[in-house]
Amino acid sequence: MIVGHGAAGLTAALAASEEARATGNAVDLTVVERSVEGQHGGNTRFTPCYMRLEAPGRLSPGFVDDMIAVSSGQNDRAYFEKLAEEAPATMMWMQTHGIEFHNPVYYLSVGPPRIQPIGAGESIIRELTRAAKEAGVRFRYGCLAETLERDGSGRMTGLRISDTDGRSETIAADVVILACGGFQGDPTMLREHLGAGGETLRMISPGTRLNAGHGIRMALAVGARPAGDWRGMHIEPIDPRSRGPAPVVLVYPYGIVVDTAANRFFDEGAGLVHETWEEFARSIHFDCRDSEVYAILDSRLLEIENYGRAIRSEVAPFKADTLEELARMIGIPAVSLESTVGVYNSACTGDPAKFDATDKDGLAAAAWLIPPKSNWARAIERPPFLAYPLIGAIAYTFGGIATDTCARVLGESGPITGLFAAGEITGHFHGTAPNAVAVLRAAVYGRIAGREAARASTP
Ligand SMILES: Cc1cc2nc3c(=O)[nH]c(=O)nc-3n(C[C@H](O)[C@H](O)[C@H](O)COP(=O)(O)OP(=O)(O)OC[C@H]3O[C@@H](n4cnc5c(N)ncnc54)[C@H](O)[C@@H]3O)c2cc1C
Repeated sequence: MIVGHGAAGLTAALAASEEARATGNAVDLTVVERSVEGQHGGNTRFTPCYMRLEAPGRLSPGFVDDMIAVSSGQNDRAYFEKLAEEAPATMMWMQTHGIEFHNPVYYLSVGPPRIQPIGAGESIIRELTRAAKEAGVRFRYGCLAETLERDGSGRMTGLRISDTDGRSETIAADVVILACGGFQGDPTMLREHLGAGGETLRMISPGTRLNAGHGIRMALAVGARPAGDWRGMHIEPIDPRSRGPAPVVLVYPYGIVVDTAANRFFDEGAGLVHETWEEFARSIHFDCRDSEVYAILDSRLLEIENYGRAIRSEVAPFKADTLEELARMIGIPAVSLESTVGVYNSACTGDPAKFDATDKDGLAAAAWLIPPKSNWARAIERPPFLAYPLIGAIAYTFGGIATDTCARVLGESGPITGLFAAGEITGHFHGTAPNAVAVLRAAVYGRIAGREAARASTP
């Protein structure tokens, strides 16, 4: 039994069927998914799906060290070493199931090399669902998994689900793979673990809300050990006016960001967007009045080659010939905005010819500016002036359940019989999310979970 129809669940289902066929073990595989058919796929369906590899068969040197560094040493090296070891083979295996990859341009910036499936996360859902169906995997939609059932000896016996009409049923299963995401869809858990205000976080995509912590609670109820950073989440700045999924606006490094009192509050140029977005977006939500801020730019944004790649909102920015008019349009004090921009502009003493939107260009503002601006510090002086409203929107949480390198769920005294987990539900991130690794680890550990579960299942 596999719970969840995202990257982790699909790779698990397909790998389990292949392992069973290879070993002559007759295994009956069912994926249960809470949403109705067509809306399945959770976060995977909505991700652009950048993956941290140089090519499908090749990781970047230093991958494991980078994974440890982003967590200030807290991430489990064994977990990421296994991920590194299996990632190239897993990507090539996905290619054999109809997924093609290319090397994308990542918003505007250079950075670690990444690959991306052509057709993004949606192609993973489409192709792996087709392959799994062809391999005989069954899919049951509209089934919310709620409880793991075991006999007196601790052997897994089934999964209690409820359907869309609220009818409950136990489906027999000797092995269960949990691949049903984090707890971002549960406001109570968000408040409990992220703090007051966590419950009002906007979900970055329609698939994000589906992961409401059921799998984590089910596993904890049978003795799984909690793991990962329970205060951690991946969150990005989006345009709140947009109605589309994941309307990120990632041009803030090229201007300034002000709160509703028109004050700057962080170093907009501290790093490439993937190095600053999490802390920035968290701070918008938890520290700024009304949980909303404004990126302020001028017409030179429009001269940056391909600037539109970093804006996924379909709504145009506010635009005005003067800062006063811009402030009036967005409802913040004009005198304060003019003053903040004036102070910032007078600190922009570097040579604007050094400006390079694609990399940290060292064009820092004068050292007296507080907060500092470490890169891309050009004066905001060429009308029309532009403003994008920004809020923080959560993509996934880090807190989850402990698993080993065989994707077995760990209790206090070792692996729990018949229980495996992969993807977002597992607690392996601390501090900051390693960039472009969430789908990769879902696929790699989903495949491991499927293989191991097929071996553990009794014919
Ligand atoms: C907008 C956006 C951009 C992102 N960008 C990237 C990126 O570029 N690179 C990257 O690596 N990662 C990215 N991520 C994160 C990544 O998409 C996810 O972490 C990853 O896809 C999770 O895969 P999963 O299989 O664990 O969970 P999901 O894909 O979320 O699948 C979980 C499934 O479980 C189902 N489910 C949940 N609870 C139950 C239940 N109780 N019973 C039955 N079914 C249930 C859900 O409906 C869903 O179908 C992004 C995420 C979003 C939303």
